[in-house]
Amino acid sequence: MKMLKAYKSAVLDLFFPKVCMACSKILLYQEYTICTPCLFHLPYTDDHLNPYNESFILMQGKLKVERAVAMLRFRPSSRVEHLIYQMKYANKPQLGRFLGLMYGTLLTEMEYFHDVDAIIPIPLHPRRFAKRGYNQSAYFGMGIAERLAKPLLEKALYRVVHNASQTKKDLVSRAEGVDKIFRCSEELDLNHKHVLLLDDVLTTGATLASAGNTLLDKFPGCRISIATIAKA
Ligand SMILES: [Zn+2]
Repeated sequence: MKMLKAYKSAVLDLFFPKVCMACSKILLYQEYTICTPCLFHLPYTDDHLNPYNESFILMQGKLKVERAVAMLRFRPSSRVEHLIYQMKYANKPQLGRFLGLMYGTLLTEMEYFHDVDAIIPIPLHPRRFAKRGYNQSAYFGMGIAERLAKPLLEKALYRVVHNASQTKKDLVSRAEGVDKIFRCSEELDLNHKHVLLLDDVLTTGATLASAGNTLLDKFPGCRISIATIAKA
């Protein structure tokens, strides 16, 4: 039976070889998801070692955040861009979990992240969720939650405004200080809790700030940290 399974998988590999999600080269025996050279050469930020890093500086002034960390540096036409593309648009949610396990392993090494109480991924708008079928940030969260051994609260936040409809309103709503695109679930109690908020890519920080401020409005005593797969 085992032989048959191994034979079947060898035949399948012959016709559909497993490729590296970062560089598309064929994976060697015992390589999974990302090849060894890519794992070695990915542009890691080491943000977790430096509290006053670029991600933290970007978030300052937008959100009362304690720490902000990104695992990788995002550059156009890079291995990281390819990874993010595969995860979001090529129906590869498990890649998100793989990256979460990778980053979770690094974060467990830092005592700071040991007192995180809950991990909350940025939700997609229901329409986008229906189209994609999964939330890549939630999969990233699964990996991190597994490594930190903390609960993943996938339904803590929900999105009330679609991204596309937000851009037009941006200037006005920001001027009014009501750029609320998220709401908290009613059952949530995060008073005096330390929340690790997750997104895939940190670009302007506006989405994470909006989600974080939604939580702080409802639970002024909670502490917020941020982790993303990459920083643009
Ligand atoms: Zn590779």
